[in-house]
Amino acid sequence: MRIYMRCLNCHNSIDGNVYVYSRENYGYNICMRCQRWLDSQMEFTTPEVVNLYFALKNRGFEPDMEKFDGHKHVDIVFERPKLHIEVDGIQHNQSTRQALSDLKRTFYSMQGGFLTIRIPNILVRNELTETVNYLVELILERYYKHM
Ligand SMILES: [Zn+2]
Repeated sequence: MRIYMRCLNCHNSIDGNVYVYSRENYGYNICMRCQRWLDSQMEFTTPEVVNLYFALKNRGFEPDMEKFDGHKHVDIVFERPKLHIEVDGIQHNQSTRQALSDLKRTFYSMQGGFLTIRIPNILVRNELTETVNYLVELILERYYKHM
């Protein structure tokens, strides 16, 4: 008998072998097509962004990762309720140029109606569950109050 599970990313069914392989090699149950997609994403993103993205997928949300908004790539995007999540490494607090660039990104996102939340890498590494709990509350609150 074969059993089938779901890809955490695209929700297509995957069989037990793919499930076990992807859990062991990627840490998530994702189909082979999504494994190739994730391989290609790793050139542009960080493990923290991927971890937060899949933690949000795991809570039933459907954000986009490394989405181009017309000006820039944003780490995690919710088109509804217009939320950008940027997962920041330590350089964001130590480089004036980086900090000013971040402020400009937040400003231009806001002009498009998007709220920007900046999450330090250290929260994803050490407090992922609580971080996601607060993000879920924030998303729901923003969704029901503003949409
Ligand atoms: Zn998939």
